[in-house]
Amino acid sequence: MDKFGYMERYGFEQLCFFQDKSTGLKAITAIHNTVLGPALGGSRFWVYEDEEAAVEDALRLARGMTYKSALAGLALGGGKSVIIGDPKVLRKDPIKREAFWRAFGRYLEGLGGRYITAEDVGTTTQDMVYIHMETNHVVGLPGRSGDPSPYTARGVFKSILACCRHVYGDRSVEGKVIAVQGVGNVGYHLCKLLHEDGAKLIIADVNQANLDRAVEEFGAEVVAPDDIYSVECDIYAPCALGSTINDSTIPLLKSKIVCGGANNQLHKPAIHGKALQERGIIYAPDYLANAGGVINVSYERAEFGYNEEAALRDIDGIYYRMRDILKISDESGRLTYEVADRLAEDRLEAVRTIKSIWTKA
Ligand code: NAD
Repeated sequence: MDKFGYMERYGFEQLCFFQDKSTGLKAITAIHNTVLGPALGGSRFWVYEDEEAAVEDALRLARGMTYKSALAGLALGGGKSVIIGDPKVLRKDPIKREAFWRAFGRYLEGLGGRYITAEDVGTTTQDMVYIHMETNHVVGLPGRSGDPSPYTARGVFKSILACCRHVYGDRSVEGKVIAVQGVGNVGYHLCKLLHEDGAKLIIADVNQANLDRAVEEFGAEVVAPDDIYSVECDIYAPCALGSTINDSTIPLLKSKIVCGGANNQLHKPAIHGKALQERGIIYAPDYLANAGGVINVSYERAEFGYNEEAALRDIDGIYYRMRDILKISDESGRLTYEVADRLAEDRLEAVRTIKSIWTKA
């Protein structure tokens, strides 16, 4: 990979590599953009095929965070860390585990607050506690904003309501059939909100316990994982994997709306965003729909401490942003994700410009 070429093409600021021989820590932090504020993004702990794959993941995810925070109206930039290794192995050795995360915390401290970390795939709240022993540049700590999933689900729910108002003229899912792919952390909380608002749920998952919970609590109907794309429904809500909107699935979809919590739902945005539009299916840009978690966690950094009421008000604002994007897309014929990208880029540019005003800070 031509790293400098890639960074230049997509406007990255910094790519850092850290290793600590005593603990075996191998971490990569990508900082994409800090125009709006310090870069925030979780730390992903994963067994990567090779170092190239880890670097690519860090870069791709960091850029995604810039757009997510920009569109969500946060004073935060985009960054991400990936740590190469197997979390299951590390958790077997409590002494090494503490040292490992504290080493990571010390290295984050060295970045001077340009990057703030949080939980992501493979990391836990306890890992954040260890990091916090060495640096304040970490959020998602116990006793503060807590598990982001219910907040992410709330933003997805508000996005679905905005889509329903746009398509059916009604800000409610009462009587609608909604196909939810993945009823894990986000999917479960989303199902709860949809059920409470009167929707009928069809679900698929590869985890039987998660399926059973949603059947028992919400009376959801279960279909096989591959059948979720073709069920008769009003809304398809991907809440498991990325890239599920692709050449094979688009022809199967029967819904009028695609809106869910999963990241990177469009396999190839330009191609598959267009294909959805041509089929008359409304696509809710994923990184706006699923911004509730990052909005909530950002309130941990508020001067007067975490305030859930303020965070929820902000998350509920996703409804209006989604509504506006759907309207602009309708009027201009541009794809919804293109409208979203443009709004995020316009905000970045506007704030970049005022940074020419000198201040002491
Ligand atoms: P999770 O692991 O708790 O849930 C994912 C669920 O999908 C699991 O129940 C899993 O068994 C299921 N699944 C896996 N493969 C599947 C398949 N082929 N078919 C059907 N189900 C399958 O994860 P989560 O935290 O709920 O996150 C879900 C998605 O939302 C991910 O794409 C994640 O990146 C994104 N996201 C999550 C948050 C958050 O706050 N947790 C925030 C933003 C985005």
